[in-house]
Amino acid sequence: MRRFIFASSFLLILLSCKGSSSGSNNPDTSAERISASTVYFQQSTAIDLEVWYQSGAEPYVRRTALDRDLWQILRGNLTAIFQYRTVKPTLTIPSDLDAMNRLTAGSQENWSTEQILALWRANQMAAAPAGTSRFYVYFLDGYLNDQGASNKHVIGVQIGDYPVLAIFKPVIAASSQGALVIPKFMEQSTLVHEMGHALGFVNHGVPMQGNYQDTEHGAHSTDADCVMYWLNEGASDLQKFVQKLVVEENAVLWGQNVLSDAKALSR
Ligand SMILES: [Zn+2]
Repeated sequence: MRRFIFASSFLLILLSCKGSSSGSNNPDTSAERISASTVYFQQSTAIDLEVWYQSGAEPYVRRTALDRDLWQILRGNLTAIFQYRTVKPTLTIPSDLDAMNRLTAGSQENWSTEQILALWRANQMAAAPAGTSRFYVYFLDGYLNDQGASNKHVIGVQIGDYPVLAIFKPVIAASSQGALVIPKFMEQSTLVHEMGHALGFVNHGVPMQGNYQDTEHGAHSTDADCVMYWLNEGASDLQKFVQKLVVEENAVLWGQNVLSDAKALSR
């Protein structure tokens, strides 16, 4: 099973992501991946995200309806990636905790990808209606179990061929260094990044138009200005990144290559 993880390197405000393989060998260009991405970019009439969270791992949301809606960052970037569809899919992305679901699963120090899949199988709402592609994200009060140990640098993961993401909240919370604005935007940019993998980027189901895959790091872009870059490196780069989100309410985080791939596949 392949999984793609978005990591932060300890106290430095570093975002990084590395692809890793944990056993089975599904190539990124497998027929199944291409077929899933083709459905998203040619057939789905609706794209839904179900959000689940453990106590103590609540997603960041606006405090009142008058505040800026943080989840508009993910919603806006999904709108951008689907802009080339002839008939745009309806996007249903919750904004507030009352439209998200609390998990009853007890807290644990870390989670293996198999345990996250078991959590997904046990915690989902009614099946998606025909024509709807549904994705699931689990906010966990624990770390990724990376070969038997807690990996305290990994922020998020997208699991193999599944429409399943997880966010490791303690890693995000630890990034704040006193400025809450940083983890809030880091959380949203991680969601955009992991949804990018789930939709089929880079070369993870959506065929590439250009040669820009950072093969050394899996399904990532060589473009440092793209959210699908494996590492948004160093304080200055992230500063730029966070700045973009702070000042531009509708900042598009996808690089041009990713957008071109989406355009080429879209119908
Ligand atoms: Zn990644």
